[in-house]
Amino acid sequence: MEISQALPVSPDGFRSGFVALIGRPNVGKSTLLNQLVGEKVAITSPVAQTTRNRLRAILTTPSAQLVLLDTPGIHKPHHLLGERLVQSARGAIGEVDVVLLLVDGSQPAGRGDAYIVELLRQGNLPVHLALNKHDLVEPGRAMELADSYRELLAGGEGESGLPWPLHPVSALTGEGTAELVRSLAADLPAGPHLYPADAVSDQPEQLLLAELIREQVLHHTREEVPHSVAVRVERIVEDGPRTAVLATVVVERSSQKAILIGKGGSMLREIGKGARLQMQKVFDGPVYLELFVKVVPHWRRSASRLAELGYTGD
Ligand code: GDP
Ligand code: MG
Repeated sequence: MEISQALPVSPDGFRSGFVALIGRPNVGKSTLLNQLVGEKVAITSPVAQTTRNRLRAILTTPSAQLVLLDTPGIHKPHHLLGERLVQSARGAIGEVDVVLLLVDGSQPAGRGDAYIVELLRQGNLPVHLALNKHDLVEPGRAMELADSYRELLAGGEGESGLPWPLHPVSALTGEGTAELVRSLAADLPAGPHLYPADAVSDQPEQLLLAELIREQVLHHTREEVPHSVAVRVERIVEDGPRTAVLATVVVERSSQKAILIGKGGSMLREIGKGARLQMQKVFDGPVYLELFVKVVPHWRRSASRLAELGYTGD
């Protein structure tokens, strides 16, 4: 069974990247995802609790592709967060391009919000604050509520030196969400589609598997390999109780390939082993995983180069 994972040719000026969606329970994360991508939200990883970043949704617009990731654990109250969990949450934040912090904007900012903001301030990433449930806010209170969040964010600023933007939205009615997406997309790096435009709706399995591999790459290589690594799952073959998965990891430079492969193949074996263990949970059975590493110079900048290498419609 060959499954195509066709990447469209991205127009000039296209932007793509990873957005961490962060928010305490009940602030409206699921509602927002459904509002943004509608029925396309299909991926619910069965290994949610064991992965650091969970792929939640892919949002493709004519000019950008946003890959929304869940960052579990970060919303826990401070006293429940062990040092290790804080480390892991910080690590997860470091693997994305933009952070979307969702709060219940119908309530004033609280201590839990302050804790998350403090954590994000150390992350050195663009942060967008969405004040959700704007439909519940009486017009006379909107200013006062927004001010409580503005105060919370005081001192937080992006690379541009501008303060973190604040977006009143309603995940329920859709008010303000188009503007939110535009604003997030503007903070993504220039780059081609990372996934097919219709990815999440019909190919959840490859995407999840690719994400599990990407996660292991990031976990094992830290800063040495940028998170512009792409993973393409070429084939999933069911062979009795065993599932064989063939995948290619695309990097931009041969030095990155050397790091990924490691001494005598040791790094690639570790990455493969970690991904295989996760995949076995997905399939609930043994998995054979074969990984290839391919260098595609400037792949993020060159959709045509990807096409040449067979990274569009098979
Ligand atoms: P999550 O735990 O962050 O995923 O939150 P949910 O998406 O499950 O939403 C929690 C509750 O808040 C649900 O009852 C939603 O209907 C409600 N909710 C979410 N967004 C909005 C909004 O913009 N306005 C209103 N009025 N309710 C919302
Ligand atoms: Mg939810």
